[in-house]
Amino acid sequence: MKKQLQSKRFCGNCNNHSVYHYPDLIFCRLRHLSRSDPIVQTLGFCEQWEPCPQECFCVEEALNKRGQKFAESREE
Ligand SMILES: [Zn+2]
Repeated sequence: MKKQLQSKRFCGNCNNHSVYHYPDLIFCRLRHLSRSDPIVQTLGFCEQWEPCPQECFCVEEALNKRGQKFAESREE
């Protein structure tokens, strides 16, 4: 079963991502091949996005963590 979240474009659910600093940052194999800095935000995306055939929790976890960060930063 696909969740709605997985249909959104994020680096974290792209076919070219690998785990780097879970869950905030991912390693992009496409960028690595094109000699760009391969470390990108899990919640970013680019024009070369391709749907990932495998479900993973990168996007979900990154969203959860970002939600927590927002809550924390409001207290400052
Ligand atoms: Zn992932």
